[in-house]
Amino acid sequence: MELRNLLEDSVLYGVNKLMDEREDICKCNKCKFDIAAVALNSLPPKYVVTEAGGLYGRVKNLNYQFETDIIMVVAKAMDIVSKNPKHE
Ligand SMILES: [Zn+2]
Repeated sequence: MELRNLLEDSVLYGVNKLMDEREDICKCNKCKFDIAAVALNSLPPKYVVTEAGGLYGRVKNLNYQFETDIIMVVAKAMDIVSKNPKHE
């Protein structure tokens, strides 16, 4: 068995989605994961127990309001990281 934070997938989904819509930000992997980390650190984790390597109830289970909240947090994280990218 393993523990998984459901928000990891939701936040990464949100980051990918917002990055597709924005032309003005760096889209390298470093910035992408920095944005995800900032967003995840500002959200309470949502842990579930899953069979290692098995399928688990994912984004489908999340309601629309929840997804909207995540997108807002990701957008904020994106502003923070894009103003202070941790690389040249
Ligand atoms: Zn970058």
